Amino acid sequence: MSTSTSNVIRTRFAPSPTGYLHLGGARTALFSWAFARHHQGTFVLRIEDTDLERSTPEAVQGILDGMQWLGLDADEGPFYQMQRMDRYREVIAQLLKDGHAYYCYSSPEEVEAMRETARAQGLKPRYDGTWRPEAGKELPAIPADRKPVVRFKSPQSGATSWDDMVKGRISFDNTELDDLVIARPDGTPTYNFCVVVDDWDMAITHVIRGDDHVNNTPRQIVILQALGATLPEYGHVPMILGPDGEKLSKRHGAVSIMDYDKDGYLPEAMINYLARLGWSHGDDELFTREQLVEWFDTRSLSKSASQWDPKKLNWVNAHYIKASDNADLAERVAPRIEALGGKTDGQDVPGIMGLLKDRAETLNQLAEGALLFCRPFEPASDELMAEVLTPEARVLLRDFAGKAVSLPQWNTENLAALIKQVLADHEVKMPKLAIPLRVAVTGQKQTPAVDAVLALVGRDKVLGRLAGL
Ligand code: GLU
Repeated sequence: MSTSTSNVIRTRFAPSPTGYLHLGGARTALFSWAFARHHQGTFVLRIEDTDLERSTPEAVQGILDGMQWLGLDADEGPFYQMQRMDRYREVIAQLLKDGHAYYCYSSPEEVEAMRETARAQGLKPRYDGTWRPEAGKELPAIPADRKPVVRFKSPQSGATSWDDMVKGRISFDNTELDDLVIARPDGTPTYNFCVVVDDWDMAITHVIRGDDHVNNTPRQIVILQALGATLPEYGHVPMILGPDGEKLSKRHGAVSIMDYDKDGYLPEAMINYLARLGWSHGDDELFTREQLVEWFDTRSLSKSASQWDPKKLNWVNAHYIKASDNADLAERVAPRIEALGGKTDGQDVPGIMGLLKDRAETLNQLAEGALLFCRPFEPASDELMAEVLTPEARVLLRDFAGKAVSLPQWNTENLAALIKQVLADHEVKMPKLAIPLRVAVTGQKQTPAVDAVLALVGRDKVLGRLAGL
């Protein structure tokens, strides 16, 4: 890898695998992906796994699964920071050689004491620069048996500023920047330093990330400057709040992106909803992945925090379910029906989806609704039978069954016409026939449209259940 001088847009998503892919992370990934796709650029996936105690292979897998489910395909990577240790050491050596970094032998206790002193003087706690080399300054004697850290020699005057793509101009006084530790006593590089080397090596042109990283940005910029790197543009997106205005957390329900898969949300709905949460294109609430890519720009990213709204997510999901092809829905929902103990073999699952999809908010609701057809028939309770199947109702059902036998084709239209005819012949209203039909055929008083239900249950079963009355 080397630094790039071309104008090609390169973005990255750089999660730390210390937990599942949460909603905030997924949204950051989505924005970085959409920005790269919009500009026909490159989207890089980098796993920041240097926190050995908190990183787990399961979390890495969870992130990869989540990205795949959302369809956020990376053009390069995943790169793993733990596999790039030699490179970080090389750059540390270079910075030491060029005088941009120095060994610091202060012990942790000494550094703590320096911080304490600063605090006592009402200053920001900081390292006091004991080991910082300056022209004409004599450094203390190196303590025996002490392994040094490496500190970056941060500029001590002026300011570090950037035009944030989301927040506008941000400026930090350089006096606020401590001489950052870039290597620990055992030589391992620290977090901010790895990010810098990676963004440089991977020729990242646009960094879009959560605004919890704003304070890291000036530290990263001064190191990039010392390395002679071209600075990327930065955009810090505000966080997502829960419906109660508090920081979004487990308390608010599912926070792992894959939980939404489990709960029956479509990835295209999730993409639409997440994109709209913190980004806008006029008043458009519903847009496809292609439209998002076509329209995405960083100017329309919101400066203020967004609020998670489960009701709106359900509304978006319902839209995508309704717009889905029946066969496609059947494929997605069949395993969920089986998981609930239903059997899809020999069932017209696409037909069932067609019947249910206008009123479902999740794939799980579709699966539950489909059980009416995919579960062995359970006759209604004796009470319900007695209540609904009155002598008068039985007359209607018998008439209906007698005529249904000779229907030329068992389909919704013919059944609807037959129901109408029986109602007319007996001069009764719909519920008089529809409710007894439902109870007799499905064991339930409430079902979707009775003609469509009868069509899906099938001729033999319907006639069989009516004959037994
Ligand atoms: N690894 C960081 C995180 O998961 C992101 C770092 C970055 O985007 O620069 O919060």
